[in-house]
Amino acid sequence: MYEDELVEIAVEVDGEAAEAVVELFNRYNGGDWIEDSAAGEVSGGGAVVESTGYDDFGSPVPGEFRMLVKTYLKPGPRGRRTRRQIEEGLWRLSLLYPMPEPVARTVREEDWAHAWKRHYKPFRIGRRVLLTPAWEEPEPLPGDVVVRLEPGMAFGTGLHPTTRLCMAALEKWLRPGDAFLDIGTGSGVLSIAAAKLGAAPVWATDIDPLAIRAAKDNALRNETALSPDELHIEQGSVPAGQAGRFNVIAANILAEVLVGLFDCAYDNIPLAEPLAPGGHLILSGILEEKSGMVLSAAAPHGLKEVERRQEGDWVALVVRREHAG
Ligand code: SAH
Repeated sequence: MYEDELVEIAVEVDGEAAEAVVELFNRYNGGDWIEDSAAGEVSGGGAVVESTGYDDFGSPVPGEFRMLVKTYLKPGPRGRRTRRQIEEGLWRLSLLYPMPEPVARTVREEDWAHAWKRHYKPFRIGRRVLLTPAWEEPEPLPGDVVVRLEPGMAFGTGLHPTTRLCMAALEKWLRPGDAFLDIGTGSGVLSIAAAKLGAAPVWATDIDPLAIRAAKDNALRNETALSPDELHIEQGSVPAGQAGRFNVIAANILAEVLVGLFDCAYDNIPLAEPLAPGGHLILSGILEEKSGMVLSAAAPHGLKEVERRQEGDWVALVVRREHAG
């Protein structure tokens, strides 16, 4: 292998596995982005997502949509070690998500430099939200909302079905001027979209400090009309002292965590507390068979199901608070 060659590892996945594979590639082979290549510092580069099978409006076509997640490794001992870690990681993931064997091939570094940007393209989630890598100039349709994300370490690339379900529910229930709270914000994707859909104020929390950093960076990258007071991102979970304040709350976390947040299992403020009377709470990250458990935990707080969305095994529930309590 020559100095200017790289090993490409590619695996074909669906949206749910894509998020996990992207995370794996970023974890073991993250680091310098393509922008640093001028300094001769290209190592890692994380994950490249190449997807096909969209319709003319940029929405995935069921049955035709394909995603290939790739990463590129430098020659040398470090690259070989990383490759082993990645192959082991993929093997472990294949126990959770059915996926074909990864395919490895050698490519020229300069081809990679072009491929990287060529393949990470704007894509649509919900009806109006166009997710766009930071360096791309998307072509929005009238009424579209553009959300610029630097693919980072935080969950929330927009590839995962739970994020797409949340975004679709958000578009439906959020009205301009609504106060919006995003618990478990990850990359900040839902909060930034909400701000651009007219929500004010927007509060985002996450227990993971890396997520908070990514969300803040992504918020800066996206000029929203909100002042720093109105777009509030902080480490934590359900915020204290905000009873009845938010018209819409999204929490895309796992069913078990949502139940714990309703029941104050973590000595937390109850998930229902910050919701305004008549407000909507969007609950996602729920496997179908666990939806009953989440609804039972919501019921004692006066929250009733008003909508259910499903993609594969994943369900998002929208519950409403009919009265204060
Ligand atoms: N909102 C993003 C990211 C969802 S991933 C999206 O829809 O794509 C779930 C996030 O919840 C993770 O970033 C995780 O750190 C965070 N999280 C997990 N438990 C939490 C809790 N108890 N309170 C707040 N955030 C939590």
